[in-house]
Amino acid sequence: MDKPLIGIIGNILIDQGGMFPGYERAYVNNDYVISVVKAGGIPVILPVISDDNTIKSQVEKVDGIIISGGFDINPLFYGEEPTEKQGFTFNERDEYDMKIVKYSSQLKKPILGICRGIQVINVAFGGTLYQDTSFAKGSYIKHMQNSKPDLPSHTVEIIKDSMLYNIIGESAITNSFHHQSVKDVAPGFKISAMAKDGIIEAIESEKEDFILGVQWHPEMLTARGDTQMLKIFENLILYSKKK
Ligand code: MN
Repeated sequence: MDKPLIGIIGNILIDQGGMFPGYERAYVNNDYVISVVKAGGIPVILPVISDDNTIKSQVEKVDGIIISGGFDINPLFYGEEPTEKQGFTFNERDEYDMKIVKYSSQLKKPILGICRGIQVINVAFGGTLYQDTSFAKGSYIKHMQNSKPDLPSHTVEIIKDSMLYNIIGESAITNSFHHQSVKDVAPGFKISAMAKDGIIEAIESEKEDFILGVQWHPEMLTARGDTQMLKIFENLILYSKKK
């Protein structure tokens, strides 16, 4: 049986020291790679590039896409001015990710957005973000945990009748490494999970396709043996095989 090829969106790491200070490297955190392998897919890393046709070709070559974590999205992409709590932004990656979502959706490739990835999906389809979770009414949970990546730190309640509910069940305790979150959900999408303070933790496409964004880091949990979170990757792979 053919294993699907899963493109993991890369990042650019600027060397702080070592042999070539200031040198740019294309990379992803290895937990994404481990999770795709565990779930039965073939991982490939898609580096951030700017040429439209080459980006489209990257998407054509893979069966499914994971939009990995990273810096804050420039709020100008969703029509807002930066406020004091807006974090560092990296425009090359923003522009790349928006094009990846556009082409993936045109070519009907399944997309899993993780952390920054849920925010990319929401903004790319016309939604907005809170530049800091403290701006959301009723928010009180610490969403930027000060502990190990695989320590589940807050509860996430999954909405019934969502695809995510069918994948991981009614609730989960997840890790949390974000200070921004979805504000207005993009047209064509619905909320599939929330934290107990009302912060949106997952969204999904209302259509038949697989476009799912989660605000936590399932790959960090999956790589360390979590079987509930592994199911998210297995479902991405299942949908990626249907091509
Ligand atoms: Mn959270």
